[in-house]
Amino acid sequence: MKYPLTLADIHSVKRHAKRLKIKFPELPHTKRLDMASVEVVGVRSYHELNCNFEKVINQNLDIPNGPRSVSHCLYCDYRFAADYKPDQKSHREIHERFMEVSEQLNYRPGTYAERERMKQDGYHQADHAEQIEDRVDGLLMITRAWFDRSFHDAVSDGYWKRHPSFEKYVAMMVPHLETMYPAIAVIVTERYGRMLGLIPKGSTYWPMG
Ligand SMILES: [Zn+2]
Repeated sequence: MKYPLTLADIHSVKRHAKRLKIKFPELPHTKRLDMASVEVVGVRSYHELNCNFEKVINQNLDIPNGPRSVSHCLYCDYRFAADYKPDQKSHREIHERFMEVSEQLNYRPGTYAERERMKQDGYHQADHAEQIEDRVDGLLMITRAWFDRSFHDAVSDGYWKRHPSFEKYVAMMVPHLETMYPAIAVIVTERYGRMLGLIPKGSTYWPMG
C-alpha cells in the first residue's frame, strides 16, 4: 500500500469509482469504492483505506489524559474533543483543507506555537543582528508569522485561493513595517514593493474581499 496516504489519493479513488460505474452499472457504489481502493491504492477495501487515512489525519494529535480533555492537532491547530464523533468530523474537514493546501502549494501555514516562535526569533534578529541582511531576515520572519496567521484563517474558512502570496503580502505590510523599523523597511521595499491601503491600518489580516 502507498504510504503516507494523501488527500489526492482519496480523490483519485473516488474518481476511479465513478468511472467504474460505466463498466459495472449493476454494482452498488460502495462495491465500486472497494474495487477502486484495491486498484488505485492497493488496500483491501474502502473501509481499510478510510481507516488508514484517519490515522494520517490523526498522527499529529496531542491528546491529554483525563475525561473531557481537549485534544490539539499540531498540524492544523484545531482543538476538539477527540472522543466526540461530531468533533472528529469537524476536525477532519478542517484538516483536509490544510492537507489540500499543503499538497497543492507545498506549504503549510505555521500553527500558533510556530508563529510565536517565528516572531520571537524575528524580533531578536531584527533588533540585534550585526549584519543588515540578517536584520532584514528578522523583519521578514516577523512578517511571515503574521502572513501565516492571515493565511491560516483563509485556509480554515475556505478562501485561501484568493489570499495574496507572501511576496504581495509583504508589499502590503510595508507601510506598517516602516513604523517599526524604518531603515530595514527601505530594503524590504526595494525587494517587494510597497502597496498602500490593502491591509487596514493597525491590522495584519488580509481582508478577504
Ligand atoms: Zn488537524
